[in-house]
Amino acid sequence: MDYQKLANLLFPDVTLTPEDLELRYPPRDLPEGARVTRFAPSPTGFLHVGGLFGALTDVMIARASKGVAYLRIEDTDKKREIADGVSAILEGFRAFGVRFDEGVTGFGTETGDYGPYTQSRRKEIYHVVAKSLVEKGLAYPCFCTAEELTALREQQETDGAAIRGYFGKYARCRDLSMEQIEANLTAGKPWVLRFRSDGSEDRRITFDDLIRGKIEMPENIIDEVLLKSDGIPTYHFAHVCDDHFMRTTHVIRGEEWLSSVPKHIALFKACGYRVPKYVHTAQVMKLDEETGDKRKLSKRKDPEAAVSYFVETGFPKESLIEYLLTLLNSNFEDWRRANPGADAMDFPFNLKKMASSGCLFDLLKLTDVSKNVISHMDAKTVYARVAEWAKVYDPDFAAVFTADPEFSTAILNIDRDVPKPRKDVAKWDEVPQYLDYFFHEPGFDPSLLPERVSPEDARAILRAYAPIYDPAEDKDAWFARIKSMCPDLGYCPEVKVYKKEPENWKGHAGDVSTVIRLAVTGRTNTPDLCTVMQLLGRKKVLERLEKAESALRA
Ligand code: GLU
Repeated sequence: MDYQKLANLLFPDVTLTPEDLELRYPPRDLPEGARVTRFAPSPTGFLHVGGLFGALTDVMIARASKGVAYLRIEDTDKKREIADGVSAILEGFRAFGVRFDEGVTGFGTETGDYGPYTQSRRKEIYHVVAKSLVEKGLAYPCFCTAEELTALREQQETDGAAIRGYFGKYARCRDLSMEQIEANLTAGKPWVLRFRSDGSEDRRITFDDLIRGKIEMPENIIDEVLLKSDGIPTYHFAHVCDDHFMRTTHVIRGEEWLSSVPKHIALFKACGYRVPKYVHTAQVMKLDEETGDKRKLSKRKDPEAAVSYFVETGFPKESLIEYLLTLLNSNFEDWRRANPGADAMDFPFNLKKMASSGCLFDLLKLTDVSKNVISHMDAKTVYARVAEWAKVYDPDFAAVFTADPEFSTAILNIDRDVPKPRKDVAKWDEVPQYLDYFFHEPGFDPSLLPERVSPEDARAILRAYAPIYDPAEDKDAWFARIKSMCPDLGYCPEVKVYKKEPENWKGHAGDVSTVIRLAVTGRTNTPDLCTVMQLLGRKKVLERLEKAESALRA
């Protein structure tokens, strides 16, 4: 067979050679040991939390080695694509501060010398490589129709073939003569380009996965499709061409691709390219509430599968990143303890510390991490973040919250600038409810009164307190005043004393202050009440005390 002739017949317009591409995309000039990684999503308009997980791994590994992480858009599968499916993905990365060094930057925009970074714009490259494979006799056109392929599958079923697919005696087009091929082409028959595998059922290959170790698998024997009938490459072929010419050193991708590695290695070798290092990451799982079993975090069932969920509910980017890193690297928590204030992105990410099986994404743990992260932010930062979030997701709240920035910052500062800040808020969508009593009159619910306080006692407490309340007093004086009115009302001013002789009292000073808290805020648990009352101001406090008292009268 004259392969050169066949190559020209199949790719008459391709004039470039693989050598031209080698020159166009030279090896990168990077320090020794630098890693080049890529994140390669399809433009589905959806960024799965597992994707953020993968991208974070790419970026951190490149960063830790002074390498390059780039973003490539894999849009060869038109079925998965939606109009402008890139922006939502980029938005997810932007929101969580995951920054690539090169690649796609927007709808139709990109940066870097190894592009284009969108597969649909790389047809020329795939065709150059495809043509060279035909020239070497390593690829051939296949004219089988869908019906013929179905018949082939049925035949394999009847035969009980252990391996299914287009190979060996089932590969009908593998050995067509030039005359047959020419006749088919002249007749305008559609064709796909197939790899001519030299694999054997009896041989196995081994390769290293950097988190799973040595893996052994049967060699690939399938004559995989490289180009579809419209000339668009399959994932397998595009992966090989792109990761070679973009000079990727480490292919980090989901474990669902692990079984394809023998195919990929065969293709890299056929093209004469160096095989990159592979890292197959564990899937992100969750505990199913109904069954109690671990299962994949599902786009359909779990709102938290979408990165947009964390943007909409207002998880700070630091919280999600912090939590993902605890899942990704088993030594992150130790590092965090040793470097409490450090930027998470400076964590020396270690591939060897990555989990090789499903890691559990637990929203409750994220919530705890986030409460901690937020508790360490200063009030100004929290104000700015909440304002930014609310502007988009809760404009009504944004209007009241930003009307007086100084007031809002002050209320966020209560119990914040202290050695043990409160951990009340995990995400910004909790803030409107959390701060509600500062902006709206709270209701008064007598069922929330402490056990040791009857409605009559509560009335007596409120009546006694209103005239002696002094908004100018500091915390100590404020509490001393509450204590001072306790004995007359039958409540013990000191909790310790009360505990020794509870029979002598109705309750203690804590019960009394809870009644005041309930009247002023509608709640039994709030940050420091003295400061809350100072910020609300005398007028509002007195109104609320009065309102609660009259509610109890009714
Ligand atoms: N486009 C592939 C996917 O979305 C990427 C796999 C890879 O990273 O190689 O699953």
